[in-house]
Amino acid sequence: MTGVYVHVPFCKRKCPYCDFFSAAADESRIDEYTRALCGRIGLYAGRYPCAADTLYFGGGTPSLIGAERLCRIYSAVSEGFGLSQGAEVTLEVNPEKKDIDFEALRKCGFNRVSIGLQSSDDNELGLLGRLHNRDDALRCIRAARSAGFDNISLDLMIATPSQTRESLKRSIAFCAENGARHISAYLLKIEEGTPYYRMKDSLGLCGDDEQAEAYIFAAEELESYGYGQYEISNFSIEGYESRHNLIYWRDEEYFGFGPSAHSFIGGRRRYYERSFEGFYNDELIDDGEGGGEEEFIMLGLRLAEGITYERFRRRFGRELPEKYVRRAQALEAAGYTVSDTDGIRLTRRGFLVSNAVLAEILK
Ligand code: SF4
Repeated sequence: MTGVYVHVPFCKRKCPYCDFFSAAADESRIDEYTRALCGRIGLYAGRYPCAADTLYFGGGTPSLIGAERLCRIYSAVSEGFGLSQGAEVTLEVNPEKKDIDFEALRKCGFNRVSIGLQSSDDNELGLLGRLHNRDDALRCIRAARSAGFDNISLDLMIATPSQTRESLKRSIAFCAENGARHISAYLLKIEEGTPYYRMKDSLGLCGDDEQAEAYIFAAEELESYGYGQYEISNFSIEGYESRHNLIYWRDEEYFGFGPSAHSFIGGRRRYYERSFEGFYNDELIDDGEGGGEEEFIMLGLRLAEGITYERFRRRFGRELPEKYVRRAQALEAAGYTVSDTDGIRLTRRGFLVSNAVLAEILK
């Protein structure tokens, strides 16, 4: 499987907790960026001919640049690389006031939308600095569905200011009642350099234990609606897992276009810096070799399926080294891992402290 990621680094306004690379949406800047993006996609498609199995527009707020430009970029990918039969094509969308031309996007070839809901509670949305409210989100979901989008993913945030167990439960019910097939549920992370980081002592955030409880509660609640957990922060109705993100976690190859986008092609990892200039000048930074056994295990253990003996054998042509199995087994009594005849994997409690568990298994 090969994926293509297109970064669209424009937002109407910066959310106070966000540290993604994005800039103010200015029409001429967006046009210049769209032209550069299409040119760069054509250039790399010529150098590395292959059909993409997934195409993902992330941001930023890709929906902000309008259907016409999005379809132009889509065409650059489909004419350059080619898209395999039944390719998954995702657009990240923010449910703001402006109407999104879902009909045009569907006609062009997009078949999945990922909507930045975050919460269905207007007070929580306000505290997160989001520009939409519950009704905007509802309108956005309905418009996508009536244009024929069946594969809809919603983002939720856990442990945000003023969130309660009841409000989280209501947000999850909102997703289920409105037909979401996939839910990405992330714990709020306070990133250095963001306004939230400076305000962190006055936000009324919960501590580590409460965060852990909220995460477990959300996962159980999502499961009660039929959303199976297949990755640390991702849940879906069976068959609706994000094929694009599975490429990352299964350590397969992908192209990334745009400032801060990463690629893994021909066994090497590369990325663009967080600046328009770096991308315009094609300053790809080499990040070394990728795809080794440690990387494969580290990424694979993010998945609920974990590392199976069979998948490791298929990838490397040898058995999963005993040392990893032994270290995973040593964490089993504490409830962080499971090992059986299929392979090794993390439990939900293990997911909560995945960095420490992975460090222990890979030490
Ligand atoms: S809309 Fe998304 S990418 Fe843009 S600032 Fe907010 S969280 Fe960040």
